[in-house]
Amino acid sequence: MITDAEFVKGFCNMCENGSKMGWHERNGGNLSYRIKGNELELIKAEIHESDAWREIGVSVPRLAGEYFLVTGSGKYFANVAASPEENIGIIKIDEKGENYSIVWGFLNGARPTSELPTHLMNHEIKKMYTDGRYRVIYHAHPANLIALTFVLPLKDEVFTRELWETMTECPVIFPKGVGVVKWMVPGGREIALATVEKMKEYDVTVWAHHGLFAAGEDFDLTFGLMHTVEKASEVLVKILSMTDARRQSITTQDLISLGDAFGVRIPKKFL
Ligand SMILES: [Zn+2]
Repeated sequence: MITDAEFVKGFCNMCENGSKMGWHERNGGNLSYRIKGNELELIKAEIHESDAWREIGVSVPRLAGEYFLVTGSGKYFANVAASPEENIGIIKIDEKGENYSIVWGFLNGARPTSELPTHLMNHEIKKMYTDGRYRVIYHAHPANLIALTFVLPLKDEVFTRELWETMTECPVIFPKGVGVVKWMVPGGREIALATVEKMKEYDVTVWAHHGLFAAGEDFDLTFGLMHTVEKASEVLVKILSMTDARRQSITTQDLISLGDAFGVRIPKKFL
């Protein structure tokens, strides 16, 4: 059974964990995974190639012929683990990278997430920039991070520095920093392009007054990245709620020492 495959179980687990964190109210958030060749071999007998191609809305030629496991449009993360075939599905990208077809799941007329253009464009850029290592793109609505987008300037430098200063592990877990995209209408080409610009440089991009996009090699790393950013945001919200004058913080020299100790390169623009 496809639902017994390790990558499908990992995908369902991640949906459940995100839901338990409270990041996926109603049908909020979406998740996609670029399936490995050996994983595809294992499920080949159960997928049904289809000629019913639909437009992606953007062009992703470097993903031609790839298969993705994706959450469904309007579907609730809370329901994914209990009934995967109705809430998630596998799509195949055509030879031009302009259309997709559904080859498994999405029962009863379900379709992939409305954020599919952003997911696929991010997959394309990450596949290219990481020599194929990155396979997961995750979008969630964590409340503390969203709250910060109402009070911090919407600048990469400010968000990165504030989060780094708030929790010691942050510069080690996201040493490249955090990108910020101003409020935009979700679900379209424009926000996809803006996000991809940021994801060329970062693994995390904030959508102002909306949520967060994270990219990573596997489910654990990507979920962990989302969790770390939200945890730091929660601490920062608590700090800002208590006082507007911090007595002490993690200093520029501390950040440099962290980079040295953990062997990560800290970009100068954040120091
Ligand atoms: Zn969203």
